[in-house]
Amino acid sequence: MNRFDIVAILEETGIGATETATRHWGDTIGHLDPDLAREALHIHQRANAFLPSASEILDIANDIQARNNPAPTPTRSRAVMPSYTLTGAINEDCPTCEAPAGHTCIAATGLEARIPCVSRLTRKAAAA
Ligand SMILES: [Zn+2]
Repeated sequence: MNRFDIVAILEETGIGATETATRHWGDTIGHLDPDLAREALHIHQRANAFLPSASEILDIANDIQARNNPAPTPTRSRAVMPSYTLTGAINEDCPTCEAPAGHTCIAATGLEARIPCVSRLTRKAAAA
């Protein structure tokens, strides 16, 4: 957004485009697309009787973007469940990737790991 967009949004909120407000809002949400900033503002206004803060608008805008751009579904990855269940690794939190008990490990790719992290296996073996 340019300064004109920031001023327009501040006028629309009722905050008023003082020099301080314009600078603060520009610093906080100036990187947003103006349409996205307005959508976030309108959502705030529908949900809230109070004047928005710049950071609230930024949070809402981030939520809108997350909703519009969901993380891609993994295209490949199927955990080999026996490697988790037969070893007992699934019953333990993973010390490496921090997967909680009952969940498969997370590979460096961000996908479900086919087999547990080595530390999860060795810790289980050491405890047995
Ligand atoms: Zn792990």
